[in-house]
Amino acid sequence: MIREIETTLVDVPTIRPHKLSVATMNTQTLVLVRVRCDDGIEGWGEATTIGGLNYGEESPESIKANIDAHIAPLIMNMDASKVALVMKKLRKTIQGNRFAKCAIETALLDAQGQRLGVPLSELLGGRVRDSVPVAWTLASGDTAKDIAEAEAMLEKRRHRIFKLKIGARALQEDVDHVLAIKRALGDRASVRVDVNQAWNELDAVRGIAQLEAGGIDLVEQPVRAENRAAMRRLAARFDVALMADEALHGPLDAFDIARNHGADVFAVKIAQSGGLFPAKEVATVAQLAGIGLYGGTMLEGGIGTAATAHLCATFTDLSWDTELFGPLLLTEEVLEEPLVYADFALQVPSKPGLGVRVDAARLRRMRRR
Ligand SMILES: [Mg+2]
Repeated sequence: MIREIETTLVDVPTIRPHKLSVATMNTQTLVLVRVRCDDGIEGWGEATTIGGLNYGEESPESIKANIDAHIAPLIMNMDASKVALVMKKLRKTIQGNRFAKCAIETALLDAQGQRLGVPLSELLGGRVRDSVPVAWTLASGDTAKDIAEAEAMLEKRRHRIFKLKIGARALQEDVDHVLAIKRALGDRASVRVDVNQAWNELDAVRGIAQLEAGGIDLVEQPVRAENRAAMRRLAARFDVALMADEALHGPLDAFDIARNHGADVFAVKIAQSGGLFPAKEVATVAQLAGIGLYGGTMLEGGIGTAATAHLCATFTDLSWDTELFGPLLLTEEVLEEPLVYADFALQVPSKPGLGVRVDAARLRRMRRR
């Protein structure tokens, strides 16, 4: 039975300012959820988001408040081993709150995996790989600095896929910045951009034409999420891969975009999808429609990152890799043993459940009071 649900906010400084078109982050607030069961097993989940309310409609504080006041009482004392039944009740009774639902489902599956002695990936259909390639985001905004950072990552064999966050500056300034980085790195790296919805359709046509000609591999969410017609026209117009991110809030969005040929690639995010199983459905829709898969991040710490890694390990085709670098952007770690990044990839934990352990003493020290 579910005996206790505890939500903790942890403010962790980032290693450098992280610039998005909607906000600049100097701190990330981890939202960690611990579910304690009456068989003594504890599961962990994460509901971390980015940029506060600049990015999405859930904030760390609202997620915590809604779990504490509404979600925890609803599922308290239910059978913790019946994860699907608990989630059915939660999804039926509570609208929205995708991040909170994701954290609860992750924690229950972590506990169930430990109970059954299997890694979480096996509960999600079974893993077909033990590591996932990880992209790094260059977000200083300074061309020379970004090139130096990319070179250092290539040298360390940590990343060879680089994503640039653009859209905050004038279009031509952004495009020149990206193309200078691509020229410097050449064929040694894949360079991609994330516009985070900042362009209108005409800007997108002008920007994407230049990016495509300059050898950029992928353009992520160039226009507003609601403007699906523009995404469809851009996907038809250009050869360069167009990825839907903010437009994807779960399986129904995935189905609608797939049906209308509105993207070439889906960024699969467990929190945006409302949980691991809905995210798996997003991926299934993509694969049925011939849309490529990319493992996305909300810049979670080790728990949410491990959860997404377990899911991505089950995808037969992960042709666009992942961006599961959240823990690498943080100055401090809440896990006893950090996740392992080596040879341009993140190793998917292999112990039961999520396969990670929270350092209780460190969490006590780091938690927001
Ligand atoms: Mg994105």
